[in-house]
Amino acid sequence: MTLPEINTEGMLGFLAELLNIPSPTGFTDRAIDFCEKTLEAIPGVSLHRTHKGALVALLPGQDKDAPWRALTAHVDTLGAMVKEIKPNGRLKLTRLGGFAWNTVEGEGVTVFASRGERVRGSLLMQMASTHIHAADVGKTERNDGNMEVRLDARTVSKEETQALGIQVGDFVAFDPRVEITNGFVRSRHLDDKACVANIIFALKAIVDAGLKPAATTVLFISNYEEVGHGAASGIPDEVAELVAVDMAAVGEGQASDEFHATLCVKDSGGPYHHGLSQRMRQLAEDYAIPHRIDIYPYYGSDGGAFWRAGGDVAVALIGPGVDASHNYERTHTEALEATTRWCLVYLLN
Ligand SMILES: [Zn+2]
Repeated sequence: MTLPEINTEGMLGFLAELLNIPSPTGFTDRAIDFCEKTLEAIPGVSLHRTHKGALVALLPGQDKDAPWRALTAHVDTLGAMVKEIKPNGRLKLTRLGGFAWNTVEGEGVTVFASRGERVRGSLLMQMASTHIHAADVGKTERNDGNMEVRLDARTVSKEETQALGIQVGDFVAFDPRVEITNGFVRSRHLDDKACVANIIFALKAIVDAGLKPAATTVLFISNYEEVGHGAASGIPDEVAELVAVDMAAVGEGQASDEFHATLCVKDSGGPYHHGLSQRMRQLAEDYAIPHRIDIYPYYGSDGGAFWRAGGDVAVALIGPGVDASHNYERTHTEALEATTRWCLVYLLN
């Protein structure tokens, strides 16, 4: 079978736009709107949102009686919320998702204040200046207590910061700093916006080629993955197989890299479904998809979240290799294309 063409340029354009829409966990409506707009333009796709705010896209398959299949990826990202306004007008934060403070130190941030104002600033350690704190700048461990947001607004008191509209509980997003060079995509939050782009453009390629997936297909765009319960609800009962599409962990001791898609056979939640994993592996071999098999040491996925919530489906996990995950991440277009093609052959076979 000749495979439908993937619109790589379109996919990268969609990805860059999505990366630039702030969507820390709990604050994902605009990112979901953007995905909805793109999916709405694909003929035959019907859409609804769950009460929790996830997006469910449905495309009828060739065989109406075949068990349904689902692909999931998440638009929510790491981020923070205002925990406290300090007496000097700066902000203490509480983290959304699992990351170390040093991975976002020095980053530009946007505070989404309660009345809709956006206030810019940056995240710094409170002993930031080398000319004042000398060696302590390097030696001090970063923690919730000593990291702060310096607002780009005139405030030196709690009251002045409150007057900007800022309150405890406001969402804070870190700048993604998206850059595409020599096929590399460098940005925060490639986890998991890269895979949202992959699954949408796999579905789009099938429809654009005038084809139908083998079975009725659900795309589940999840919005609470980084805190562990994204796909715990909202996957339709008819679904028998779920392929979670999420970044592969690249680094020392790992088989994954930035130029391949990876099938993860085990993560912190234990092994994935062997039968479905074997099928994914066979498809990758049959269609010469650049792929690796790997195990991720500190990792959970929405597939695991659905299992833990009682979902009775076979679950497999694939995704593009992402270097420096939950940090300033990077992948390559080759891994994105490989992942998209893998989704595509899965849906067609
Ligand atoms: Zn992820």
